[in-house]
Amino acid sequence: MHFHTYFEINEFTGQDVHALQAAHPLHDAVRVAGRLHQPTVPLAQVQRPAGHVMPIDVLWWGPGLVQTSTLTTANGMFEVDLATPPQRATMVKISASTPHIHMTATHELGHVMDHLLKVHLIGPAHVTTEQGLYASEALHSALHPWWTAVQSTAVYQILHATQRNRVRFGEVSRGLTLDSPAECFACSFAQLVATDTQNPTFLAELQILQKARSPRYWSDAEFVPVGDAMRALFTRLGW
Ligand SMILES: [Zn+2]
Repeated sequence: MHFHTYFEINEFTGQDVHALQAAHPLHDAVRVAGRLHQPTVPLAQVQRPAGHVMPIDVLWWGPGLVQTSTLTTANGMFEVDLATPPQRATMVKISASTPHIHMTATHELGHVMDHLLKVHLIGPAHVTTEQGLYASEALHSALHPWWTAVQSTAVYQILHATQRNRVRFGEVSRGLTLDSPAECFACSFAQLVATDTQNPTFLAELQILQKARSPRYWSDAEFVPVGDAMRALFTRLGW
């Protein structure tokens, strides 16, 4: 079963939720990203022990409505409702004002994968507000080769230095660190989808993001060891 079949894509206008029109690019983004994976471990078996509601909602979220806890607008978010077990709703929100629909959606699906990895490798009991949502945050040993590869890239080192200065000068809260393992995992996943599918829309968006003033994505050459390590992780798990 393909990964993309675990998602249900809808639109939230601010008033109600309804099916997103079939031709919308968000459908294409989730389909392309999801086809990369044909898990031999059914992801539903990973998700149900965590008490999640299936499927995972992907919502095209009205302009300006996606906000982080600090009220800055975001292109996308992944949320797990930890307050109401056993029926924990998981949700991806994609802002209708994001300029990069495919890469944004796939970055958020990367957070979903990281979360499912935590449930699979460490166990649903360890998915809590205190312990966090992600295998990458816990730096589980299965992720060590990938994290080592990330840390030796120039992109990571620049992000890390920039982030330290931004925190020092009070520009961002500590919770929103672009150099965190969770953010690097989501970016790695999105870039892996672009690289491995060679989908032209993904590649065009990736090229823009690679040239951004403060890039979070790697050059093609620098990404090779990062992508290899992430691919090896999924292959070993049968995802
Ligand atoms: Zn993110």
